[in-house]
Amino acid sequence: MKLIAEARKQNRSALDEQAGKALLAEFGVAVPQSAMVAGADEVGQKTKSLKFPVVVKVMSPDILHKSDAGGVKVGLQSAAEVESAIRAMMQQPAIAAARIDGFLVEEMAPPGQEMVIGGLRDPQFGPLVMVGLGGIFVEILKDVSFRLCPNARIDAEEMLTELKGAAILKGARGTKPASLEAIIDVLLKIGGENGLLMQHAGDISEADINPLIVSDTAAVAVDARFILG
Ligand code: ADP
Ligand code: MG
Repeated sequence: MKLIAEARKQNRSALDEQAGKALLAEFGVAVPQSAMVAGADEVGQKTKSLKFPVVVKVMSPDILHKSDAGGVKVGLQSAAEVESAIRAMMQQPAIAAARIDGFLVEEMAPPGQEMVIGGLRDPQFGPLVMVGLGGIFVEILKDVSFRLCPNARIDAEEMLTELKGAAILKGARGTKPASLEAIIDVLLKIGGENGLLMQHAGDISEADINPLIVSDTAAVAVDARFILG
C-alpha cells in the first residue's frame, strides 16, 4: 500500500489527514473534494475547481486537534475569505509555533448528523470497529458500540440499534433523519470482510473518522486519522 509505505519511509507514526482521506477513498468512503495550499497566496489559483462554501484547516504534524488550535474555519464563501482565514490562522499562537505542512481547503459536506467511526487492534483478537454519535455522545456519554472484525451487515445494523442515542438518527427535535444505509455502508467498508481494517490489519493500530457527517442520503468522512503500528 503506497500511502502507508510512504508514511513509513518518512518515519511518520501516523497518516496525515490528506493521506488518511486518500486511503478512505480507495475503500470507497466519500471524502470532500479538496486542494492543499502552502499559504494564502496560492488560494486563488489552487481552489478554482472547488465548489464554495469550503472549509480551511491547518495541516501540521504538531497539531492533533485543529479546532483547539484555532485551525479550522468552516463556511467560507469565496477565495478571498479563505485567504483571510489562513492569514488569521497564522497569527494563532499554537499555529505560529508549529511546523506547518500547508492548509487543506475542502468542500463542505452536506449538513447532517455527526458520527464517529473508529478502529483499533486487540493484540489477541485482531481489529475491532467502533461506531458512535459525535460530540457529547462519544466524548461525555461514551455511547459507542464495538464489534470484532470482520463484521457482516447484520453486525453493522445491530451496532447502530445498540446505541443509546439511536433515536437521534431517526430525526429528533426538528433534525432530519440520518441515512442508516449510508452509515452501514461505511461501517462495512471499514470493518467488513474486505474492509480497510482487515486489509491493513498488520499496519494500522488505530483508526479515527471524526466526524463522518451523515445526511438523509449520504455520509462523508471530513476528518480522518490512522495510527501505524
Ligand atoms: P479537528 O482536528 O478539530 O477534529 P475537524 O477536521 O474534525 O478538526 O474539523 C472540526 C469540525 O469542523 C468538524 O467536527 C465538523 O463539524 C466541521 N467540519 C470540518 N470539515 C468539514 C467539512 N468538509 N464539511 C462540513 N463540516 C466540516
Ligand atoms: Mg475531527
